[in-house]
Amino acid sequence: MSRAAHPAGPRYADVLTAGGVSAPPADLNALDPKVWPITAARDEEGQLTLGGLGVAELARRQGTPAYVLDEADWRRRARTWLAAFGSYDPQEPPVHYAGKSFLSKAVARWAAEEGLGLDVCSGGELAVALAAAFPAHRITFHGNNKTVAELGRALDAGVGRFVLDSHEEIDRLAAAAIERETTAAVMVRVTVGVEAHTHEFIATAHEDQKFGFSLAGGEAAEAVRHVLKFRAGGKTPPLELVGLHSHIGSQIFDTAGFETAAHRAVGLLAAIRDEHGLVLPELDLGGGLGIAYTSEDDPQDAFSIVAALKAIVARECFGYSLPTPQITVEPGRAISGPPGVTLYEVGTVKPLEGLRTYVSVDGGMSDNIRTALYDAAYTCVLASRTSEAEPMLARVVGKHCEAGDIVVKDAWLPADVRPGDLLAVAATGAYCRSMSSNYNHALRPPVLAVLDGAERVLVRRETEDDLLALDLG
Ligand SMILES: *Cc1c(COP(=O)(O)O)cnc(C)c1O
Repeated sequence: MSRAAHPAGPRYADVLTAGGVSAPPADLNALDPKVWPITAARDEEGQLTLGGLGVAELARRQGTPAYVLDEADWRRRARTWLAAFGSYDPQEPPVHYAGKSFLSKAVARWAAEEGLGLDVCSGGELAVALAAAFPAHRITFHGNNKTVAELGRALDAGVGRFVLDSHEEIDRLAAAAIERETTAAVMVRVTVGVEAHTHEFIATAHEDQKFGFSLAGGEAAEAVRHVLKFRAGGKTPPLELVGLHSHIGSQIFDTAGFETAAHRAVGLLAAIRDEHGLVLPELDLGGGLGIAYTSEDDPQDAFSIVAALKAIVARECFGYSLPTPQITVEPGRAISGPPGVTLYEVGTVKPLEGLRTYVSVDGGMSDNIRTALYDAAYTCVLASRTSEAEPMLARVVGKHCEAGDIVVKDAWLPADVRPGDLLAVAATGAYCRSMSSNYNHALRPPVLAVLDGAERVLVRRETEDDLLALDLG
């Protein structure tokens, strides 16, 4: 897959002007509700407010750059995804928040309070979830190379689901469970030959990727046999197979790719019933549900996606005379992305006649690597004030020693943007703090939750002492 083909990356060809840049918005001060958090507004002075709090005072108190999370929006999205499923057993919620998009102790608590399940894919994410006392039975443990120590810790904690990714792991988890005389509930991760991003998906017979067991060539069926060998293992069988798992991509805007994935996965459910006389009760369709990074993105709402997924799985199961399994989804960015905004202060403005204006901010690729990594598009506004100046084509760049240090590749900003202004970049709640780095020994920004006119520091800003604490000299 070429870099440019990545999801969150390039905008669609039909909305681009000849130069490859979309036309400026009619009103540069407007906040498209599709892109900005639910509480985003402009006050009488024209300042952006989030959670009822002006960004200028927020920046004065907390500094910039800063990640700001609209708690009300985050919780509302969590609730909406759950509500889309109608009734379900609260001990086995059908929506698992993908913690890799952003996880802190407070966010794990929000997820717990809203009744979500939680996906973790490393010992570190598990540690954060456990430190927040997230109910372990609602945690699913992912990853293509979980260590023996991680598996043991997850078993000791009582993690609810393990998604098995390799034959080595099946043996490792079984051994760890036998040692503890416990049973691990497991799903087999199936790669179904579907690669889905935005409006396109490719269906192939084979999967050229590190995750999971390929359906083609019977690898997934073989993995199921391997797991089921442990079914009859003594008084306490170490592994209990509860379902299949499939994850087909990210920033997906429609259900066509899921349709092919479900078709193939349900085919395997039927084959398992025929071969082993076992009807698996769960089917996890993974995450990847898209959000609007710009006004050109048009994600479907949770209710229509869930209704479509349910209909697809029901139809496929009907074809095989299988009961419909419990469907699970794992949205990460669809919950945590839109509630997040990054605030930056402008440091320099460099106009290049006939080309564009480079606007340098006090952060960059260390707090948002997605633009450099995926060619991702973002929306950016002048946040500390409004302006009636003409639109200017800007490239918002960071302060790192790297030409590719771009925050927003093509941003229409008012032509009078000047040092000291605050810029806000929308939809940065997912995969920005969680993928951040200390490149150039940058100090990672804090994560601030805003709610009802007050802010709370969820993760504090790094200090030079933090940097030096690891350096033993
Ligand atoms: C990354 C990932 C997710 C979440 O993806 P989003 O695009 O954030 O929704 C869910 N499940 C699995 C297995 C993943 O790897």
